[in-house]
Amino acid sequence: MPLRGLPSIDRLLNADAGRALVAAHGRGPVTRELRLALETLRAEALAGDALPADAAGAVLSAAAAALTRPDPLRPCLNLTGTILHTNLGRALLPEAAIRAATDAMRDAVALEFDLDSGGRGERDDHLRDLLRRLTGAEDATVVNNNAAAVLLALNTLAGGREAIVSRGELIEIGGAFRIPDIMARAGATLREVGTTNRTHPGDYRAALGPQTGVMLKVHTSNYRIEGFTSEVPAATLREIAAEGSEVPVLNDLGSGSLIDLSRYGLRREPTVAEAVAQSDLVTFSGDKLLGGPQAGFICGRADLIARINRNPMKRAMRLDKIRIAALKAVLELYLDPDRLIETLPTLAMLARPRDDIAAQAERLQPRVQQAVGAIGFQVAVCDCASQVGSGALPTDTLPSAGLALTGPGGAAPQQLAARLRALPVPVLGRIASGALILDLRGLRGDDRLIHALTGLAP
Ligand SMILES: *Cc1c(COP(=O)(O)O)cnc(C)c1O
Repeated sequence: MPLRGLPSIDRLLNADAGRALVAAHGRGPVTRELRLALETLRAEALAGDALPADAAGAVLSAAAAALTRPDPLRPCLNLTGTILHTNLGRALLPEAAIRAATDAMRDAVALEFDLDSGGRGERDDHLRDLLRRLTGAEDATVVNNNAAAVLLALNTLAGGREAIVSRGELIEIGGAFRIPDIMARAGATLREVGTTNRTHPGDYRAALGPQTGVMLKVHTSNYRIEGFTSEVPAATLREIAAEGSEVPVLNDLGSGSLIDLSRYGLRREPTVAEAVAQSDLVTFSGDKLLGGPQAGFICGRADLIARINRNPMKRAMRLDKIRIAALKAVLELYLDPDRLIETLPTLAMLARPRDDIAAQAERLQPRVQQAVGAIGFQVAVCDCASQVGSGALPTDTLPSAGLALTGPGGAAPQQLAARLRALPVPVLGRIASGALILDLRGLRGDDRLIHALTGLAP
């Protein structure tokens, strides 16, 4: 019976190597990993494999490997060319926000406490005035993310009633955010109007009635309908409401920018302030074009914000002190838009001129060649195209430059990509036409890449 050759947990914990693991990682985690490694060995033995000669040694080294496996959540270099990469955590925060967040983490802060009176304060007070100034809204509130903002606003305005939406705006955002599903969970009945490509003011008028709770406008953020199209702007929906129904217009901007991005060579999208001027409520994300932490803003009419604040659902979506501190620091940067390009990493990366990136690629080429030459890869400067990501400006690409890494004898770039992902600071590129492309738009400082690559052993 081969299973008899398996060591006991006790014996493993008392071996020298076992004691060293316990000293480094604690008894609980070590015992767990030893058990898992033992189980694997037992299963292999039952399947007919011979036990290794030194079964105890094998189990101990398997446990040691598991205990020292690098943290998947460790910082990595996003050279994919997608600046707001949802799967990589979207916006990188400015230093001011990082400081504010860590300060708030370390100590107590007057989150819902009025330091002047010593009485109760409100969590939203820390952001309300800033948001009013930056968006022109009468009032504002903030929740966990924009999906929550839309859900909360719909539930408040149209729970048990109808929400009118154009068929051209029934969008799906990645990660199972679909307007019809959100609508159902918000307790609102979806009232679709118009067609996929064309919706007219008369379509909304015909659908309006005593059962209507809201007219919803959704920014088609991750696609564009082109050709024979027409949509009804929020301002027109407001005019329709003013004909008597007074139904509020909710405008989900998705990304939403506080500034005119055309100033930085990006496509001009309506700003939050413009949307606020034309709608009753506007929702948008904190970690898309705004460049802050994950959050969802609701800005607009004070009476509607007051209704939202009374909705018990809001309590389940509220922000903690860490994110409020970070958001406040990010919003404060917007008070000085002239310096935003230096202070806000998202904007700095999106607005980086191609020539600047190309110069960095030329500078880095010999150094990167030296680092990956050891494993036989060739490095060439290349042109590439970045994108904003997170569904913002979906059809636009930003001319960029980078490094194209190709393997010896046409070795699969997937292989090199895997090696770069396994580094202590993973380097993430994208594979295109047989090469691994490192788009340098997202690289802040040459040395970070070189340091990351020194971890590459032949
Ligand atoms: C991204 C997006 C959302 C969801 O926002 P999150 O902040 O990711 O929750 C909702 N609506 C639109 C139009 C979006 O683009």
